[in-house]
Amino acid sequence: MKHDQNASLRRRKKGILMSFLAAAAVLYLTACAEVPEPMETRATTFSDTSTAAPSESQSDGAQTTAPQTTEEPNGEPADTAQTTADSVHPVPPPDDADEETGIHTETTETLESIPYDTVYEYSDQYYEDERFVRVSGIDGCRLVTLVTTYQGDKVTDVSEHTEVLYQPTNEVIVIGTKKVITYGTAIVTENEVPFETEYVYDENAYDDERTTVQAGQNGYTTSEYRITYEKGVEVARELVTSEVTPPVPEILRIGTKPAYTEEQVTREENVVSYETVYEYDSTLEEGVQQVIVEGKDGYTENTYRITYYHGEEISRELVERTVHEPQNEVIVIGTKKEETFGMPYVDAAHGGYDYNVTQDFGGSNNHGGIDFGVWYGEPIVSVMSGTVVYAYDEGDIPTSDLRWTYGTYVVVEHENGTRTYYAHLSSRTVSVGDTVEKGEIVGYSGNTGRVSPAPTPSNPLAGTHLHFEIRVWNGSTYVKADPKDYLPRWNY
Ligand SMILES: [Zn+2]
Repeated sequence: MKHDQNASLRRRKKGILMSFLAAAAVLYLTACAEVPEPMETRATTFSDTSTAAPSESQSDGAQTTAPQTTEEPNGEPADTAQTTADSVHPVPPPDDADEETGIHTETTETLESIPYDTVYEYSDQYYEDERFVRVSGIDGCRLVTLVTTYQGDKVTDVSEHTEVLYQPTNEVIVIGTKKVITYGTAIVTENEVPFETEYVYDENAYDDERTTVQAGQNGYTTSEYRITYEKGVEVARELVTSEVTPPVPEILRIGTKPAYTEEQVTREENVVSYETVYEYDSTLEEGVQQVIVEGKDGYTENTYRITYYHGEEISRELVERTVHEPQNEVIVIGTKKEETFGMPYVDAAHGGYDYNVTQDFGGSNNHGGIDFGVWYGEPIVSVMSGTVVYAYDEGDIPTSDLRWTYGTYVVVEHENGTRTYYAHLSSRTVSVGDTVEKGEIVGYSGNTGRVSPAPTPSNPLAGTHLHFEIRVWNGSTYVKADPKDYLPRWNY
């Protein structure tokens, strides 16, 4: 019986619900019957709920989505009515009235809201002044069926049955835990001060050489700040410490010696040795040498402008060139032989020596020369080379002139300042102006002029001899000299 009753109740309930839903009774829609909307419609991105407070939400969709924070600033439930009383449904007339017993039942079905709870999730993804509804609360709904049994007008039994149609969806509110104000420390290098350069001069280095003695370093300030951040954005900074590092000057050493120098130099180059030229001079005595021109080597005088770099020659330019030709040395060699006197004839009868002097130089009659006893017609030669200055034949000179006594005679002048006389010749072979060599025949012996004894027709060769004289120039005139002092003494 009871079983049937229950079954009947279920049927009715189902029918009621169906008719309720089908009839779309507006009255209930606002109360309880509304099907929960999908959470996605209210949610945007929300990726992390792991740190949230345990959620009692029964909505699976809420775990992967979150509402925007500004959409529902508070956890106020939607305007779904908390009311339950207004959800009494009219009940159709009893279907199981028993006319005979007078017992009947009256069934009242009421939809009641099940209020949602609010749960809080704490997230360090949001600042502590931020909160938002991640999941909107939705009331649940239950159907309360009240069956009242009457016997007549008397209530004999009341039974109540409740069935949850759907559970409420808890409201989830996310509360940020991230600090709005945070602090940090920053150490910054700032206020850079450029270093200066100092120079040190070095006279031992070249002026294009520079050496870094000390590297420069910029100065700077190291400051420590305490920084206040609001929601990650710096809003204030306060200087805590500050340390100044002064700049370190750069020190450069610079040479002062000129890297490039120039010099002009003159050099004698390409020397050509002089040659010696010999000349022969017959007026100089044999064996005499005289340097008449001094020999000089030839050379080229080059003037260069030389450029040096760091003391090393790097280029030279010819500025001036003068060629000095060699000057040959000239030496004169004398070829003149010291001529000696020979004899005025060859004494063939005596083998060339042991001349027969018949009258000597000087004496009581002041003999001007020397007489040689010779054969008539002997060749008479010049005792030395020279030039014929007088040449007379017998009779050319009148007897009033004392020279007539010489008869035919020849006078030769020699370069050594002497003259030689050859007198009483039978004939002469040279004339004035002739040059004669030593030993050259100038005539033949005879007895012309005054001889003693004088020739006679019976003795035409009487008085034949050679009168020979040497006269020496004394600076103003020729003076007779003793021939024996000049002629070779070949035993005469
Ligand atoms: Zn004489």
